[in-house]
Amino acid sequence: MRKFNLKSLFKKQSSPDFQYSRLEYVSSIAELPKELGDSIFIVKRGKIDRWVVFKCPNNCGNRVEVNLMKNQYPFWRLKVKGNKVTLSPSIIVEGCNAHFWLTESRVEWFKFENKDYYERANDKH
Ligand SMILES: [Zn+2]
Repeated sequence: MRKFNLKSLFKKQSSPDFQYSRLEYVSSIAELPKELGDSIFIVKRGKIDRWVVFKCPNNCGNRVEVNLMKNQYPFWRLKVKGNKVTLSPSIIVEGCNAHFWLTESRVEWFKFENKDYYERANDKH
């Protein structure tokens, strides 16, 4: 269990935005490599997108697994344009509490002062 502390919070919020460079498809979570690198993986079986998986952008070592299946809660909406991935709503990583938006494969850290939440929550994709 990771302990939450102010120092890591400060570090996290001052992290630069991060860009994932590749998009790869696999057919199950078990096929994912140990090291995800700077790739975003979409787990797709049949015609159904199930998960989006990538390493936590604050380099804590966590693997972020984002559910896309609407019969499980919570689920996220996925948009793929070219090889760029957009997810909504924002993502909070359990364990390290990183909070960010993934927009066209770029990590944008959530900032309360931007009123991100309220603006984008009403933005229907
Ligand atoms: Zn993390």
